[in-house]
Amino acid sequence: MTKISSSGPSTPRVAIIGGGAIGLACALELARRGAAVTVFEAGPRAGEGALRASGGMLAGGFEGASGTEARAFADFAARSLTLWDEWAAMLAPHAPSPLGYRRAGSLSPAFRDDDLEWLQRLDVSGVERLMPKEARRLEPSIAPDIRGALLFPEDGELDNRVLGPALAAAIRAEGGVIRESAPVETLLLRHGRAAGVRALGRAFEADMILAAPGAQAPTLREIPETQLIAPVQGEMLALAPGAARLNRAIRGRHVYLTQKPDGRIVAGATARPGVANLAVRSQAVDALRRAAIETIPALGGSEVIETWAGLRPASPDGAPVIGWSALPGVFLALGHHRNGVLLAPATAEAAAAAILDVCDTRFHHTLQVVSA
Ligand SMILES: Cc1cc2nc3c(=O)[nH]c(=O)nc-3n(C[C@H](O)[C@H](O)[C@H](O)COP(=O)(O)OP(=O)(O)OC[C@H]3O[C@@H](n4cnc5c(N)ncnc54)[C@H](O)[C@@H]3O)c2cc1C
Repeated sequence: MTKISSSGPSTPRVAIIGGGAIGLACALELARRGAAVTVFEAGPRAGEGALRASGGMLAGGFEGASGTEARAFADFAARSLTLWDEWAAMLAPHAPSPLGYRRAGSLSPAFRDDDLEWLQRLDVSGVERLMPKEARRLEPSIAPDIRGALLFPEDGELDNRVLGPALAAAIRAEGGVIRESAPVETLLLRHGRAAGVRALGRAFEADMILAAPGAQAPTLREIPETQLIAPVQGEMLALAPGAARLNRAIRGRHVYLTQKPDGRIVAGATARPGVANLAVRSQAVDALRRAAIETIPALGGSEVIETWAGLRPASPDGAPVIGWSALPGVFLALGHHRNGVLLAPATAEAAAAAILDVCDTRFHHTLQVVSA
């Protein structure tokens, strides 16, 4: 009789550095496909980094149209938007409160001549041009002096503060492990290859490492590509519920607005390259609030109930870095900049396919035929 046994573990062990939007999404996809995942999160709770600070918009159309990213980005964003329907349904049972996922599109309004020029630059195929009357019909609370708008019909939004706990619960339900307050200090290296991580004063062996440390990437010096990543700080505010109801995200030239399931309207965001602190400037909050009121006048009476800042992880050209590191055994999921929430499912899909493909090949090579 011939039987086949494996000299390596039958389930690939993947250590994930960073429990943010990207690390958690990759962990979930890997766990769903049968990997043994352990997420190492430096902070006290996973999902508290840029994910928690973000606007939670799924605005691939807008970003693709902005001209700052290549066609490849638009395709990748479109793929992720497609995956989001399935991900939202999969995550809903794990969410501690409504995920607030909706795909009603996003609306970019113009009030002045320079806004109209800006809209012309955004106008690409698949986008609907709206006359003022039509824009007001879709969004009755928008300022009456609107002169035109673009509708990005595929865009969506969700409550990013619910997404983190939902992802964490889904990972655990798949048998994954999340170690919190567990910063990865160094990588374990064996024969020039990453073979695990050192955290909590211990060594954790792994077959593969996935690096998703967000804006703190440069602290992981052994992984050369992390040195490309720099923070772009963004300030945001939330307005008390009750003053207005938005049917979709509003993406203006000076502010974007997105409403959460509890009625809060989140307004963002500034972009401060190289700023690595989380201090919020009062003049930035005032400017965002003014722009919010110009867009939706009913917000004039609503109180600012919270302000915060977060750090977007940005590569030199603003595009994400997804692929194998020059350091063998490390897969990179870095630099998701303004779009990490949007791009999380497609990044997870790409990362899981690449990692499991390599693991499969490696384990296949170690299979031994045993005759009995
Ligand atoms: C103000 C603002 C608004 C935004 N709005 C949107 C939006 O509307 N839509 C959208 O798609 N995107 C938005 N983004 C971008 C999005 O939030 C990011 O692209 C995304 O969160 C990046 O995910 P990440 O996992 O790479 O980083 P993070 O979410 O920051 O997670 C990285 C995690 O890694 C951990 N970590 C770092 N180093 C280590 C280590 N050595 N060991 C263990 N753990 C470590 C950190 O503690 C952190 O929890 C926004 C960002 C900001 C700041």
